[in-house]
Order: sequence, then C-alpha cells, then structure tokens
Amino acid sequence: MSRFLNPAHADLTAYVPGEQPRDRVYIKLNTNESPFPPSPGVLAAVQAEVSKLHLYPDPEAAELREALAGLLGLEPGEILAGNGSDELLLLAFMAFGGRGVCYPDITYGFYRVYAQLLGERAETAPLGPDFEVRPEDYFGKTGLVVIANPNAPTGLCLTVDQIEAILKNSPDSVVLIDEAYVAFGGESCLPLLGRYENLMVLRTYSKSRSLAGARLGFVCAAPALIEDLKRIKYSINPYNVNRLTQAAGLACVRDNDYYLANCREVMRVRAWAAQALEKLGFESTDSKANFIFTKHRSFPGKLLLEKLREKSVLVRRFDTPRIENYLRITVGSAEQMQALVTALEEIIGGEA
Ligand SMILES: *Cc1c(COP(=O)(O)O)cnc(C)c1O
Repeated sequence: MSRFLNPAHADLTAYVPGEQPRDRVYIKLNTNESPFPPSPGVLAAVQAEVSKLHLYPDPEAAELREALAGLLGLEPGEILAGNGSDELLLLAFMAFGGRGVCYPDITYGFYRVYAQLLGERAETAPLGPDFEVRPEDYFGKTGLVVIANPNAPTGLCLTVDQIEAILKNSPDSVVLIDEAYVAFGGESCLPLLGRYENLMVLRTYSKSRSLAGARLGFVCAAPALIEDLKRIKYSINPYNVNRLTQAAGLACVRDNDYYLANCREVMRVRAWAAQALEKLGFESTDSKANFIFTKHRSFPGKLLLEKLREKSVLVRRFDTPRIENYLRITVGSAEQMQALVTALEEIIGGEA
C-alpha cells in the first residue's frame, strides 16, 4: 500500500480469483470455466468483427439485447449487458445499496467485497444446518438483498416459490437473484419478472456459454430498475461491453442449442463424478451447478487440495468456517473428471 491510497480503502480485502497458473499444464477444475470451447459460430462472428475495432462498440448493445430478449421472452428495455456479471453486481450495489445489503454468510465472495468497497452496511444471514438458504431470513428488508441461486459454493437451490416469498415479504428491497449457474439444473425465476418491480435476475455467459475470457453478463429487471443501473453505467463506462464480446454474445444466442447440449453433458458428468467420489468416501451436496461441493470423511480438504496440485489437478477451497474441509471441484470433461478420480484414488489409497 502506498502512502497515497485513499484511507477509506486501507482495510479493503480484495476478491481473490482462483489461480490461473502458467508454470505447467494443469487440469483446471478451480474456476468453474466450461471445458468446452465456444461454438464455431462465435469464432466466426468474432473474426468478422476484428476489422471494426477502430470503432467504439454500441454503448447500448442493442442487437445483443434484442437477441437475448427474443430468447428469454422479455423486452430489450428489461435487459442490461455488462462486462461480466461482476460489473453488473457492482452497478447494482451502487444503485440500490445505501440502505444496507443482505446476503448469506456463505456465498459468492464478491458480495462482501463490493459492500466493503462502497462502505455499505452489510448483514449476513447464516445458512441453515444443511447449508440451505432460509427465505425467512430475507423478509422485511430494505435496501438490497443478494442471493445466488444455485448458491456458491454449495450448489444448492431455492425454488421459485421460495424466491417469490422473499419478493412478497420484502417489497421495499431490491432482490437480486444471481443465476450464474442456473443452466446446470436450477429453476430460473425469470418468469416472475413481469409481476415484481423489485426483482433483478443476473446471468453470466462465463460458465454455461464458454465465454469466461470475453467477459459478458446481463441483468433482467423492470425497465425502471434498468434505467437506474444505466444512470450509474453511463457515469462510469458507457462502452462497457467491447465489440468482440457483443459479437460473441450474439452468436451464442444463435447457437443456443450447442450450449444447452454442453450443459446437459456437464450435468451427466457431474452425476457420474459425484458417484465416483462417494465410493472414495466423499460426501457431496446436491449441486445444481457446474461444480461439485464435497468433503472427505477423513482427509482434510487442505491436504487433498495440495496433493491434487502435486498431481497437476487444481481445485478450489475456501478458508471459511463450516466449509474449510470442502473442495469445490469444477465439473470438467469426462476425461478430466476421470483424471481427478484416478488422482484421488492414488492419494487416498496411498495414505490409508
Ligand atoms: C462466476 C460468478 C459470477 C461472475 O461471473 P462473470 O460474469 O464472469 O463476472 C457472478 N456470480 C456468481 C455466483 C459466480 O459464480
């Protein structure tokens, strides 16, 4: 820290992304990326766009929003595109914080970081005994409620009825449902959008659409909320989604079937891998995300992570009370998951 840093940020604990090491080749199961490349249509669309890079992108991302609206049965005015959904989260915290934010005590780490960055009064609601989000904890709130559904890193879901209960019982709060992982077996609450002026649904193309490197997310909400977010966006970075990414996103919408098939494959491999892990003494949550959240009955998580790393397999672990022995393992290709299971067999067999 230099002596020039704004003292307001002296205690800020930044978000720590999963590592992207370059020292050797790893089987990367630590950042929930897709094991599948972008569709051929995305590659062609990006290539065609490169020659226009001397021109600013459309600050409204109109074509992309129209395509998304068509796909999701919404109006373009109900959608805002962002530089990854992380950017949209920040816009939402800036637009609708100020009267406090509330989120689960175990969830996506960025919620805490944004609250701290903006000096928000943050309230965390503890997960229940089985790591479940308890809807009642979010009743009667004002300000901003943020819930990842499926939650991270547990992979557990609320039903649409449970989310509707929160919307009904917190009418003075904006309720942001982060559906980063919804394509892997969760139930989307988008159908509630027309009926609740306080609902925001956040999506990312990083996980289900193989675009983590392009940075694209979007948020769906009533036009009045979208206008509020745009007020902030146009005060920070009007050209937030670059040309190549807009072209890639548009092609993703056109190639939707390719991505849905990939998601089905991830779900199939997830079920296979969870079962293989169970045979090795692991216990996993019922994850509806593209990761498995699992704990071994006798081996500590930290040890397993280190041993896997020695075998060139990267997974993620969080030093957070209640979950320090859990590993979050991205569901990779069938081949990658077979390699993971083989590595764990060697580690556990060798030590037992
Ligand atoms: C990955 C993730 C994000 C961020 O996605 P980007 O679009 O890549 O910024 C947001 N929320 C949750 C819960 C995530 O897991």
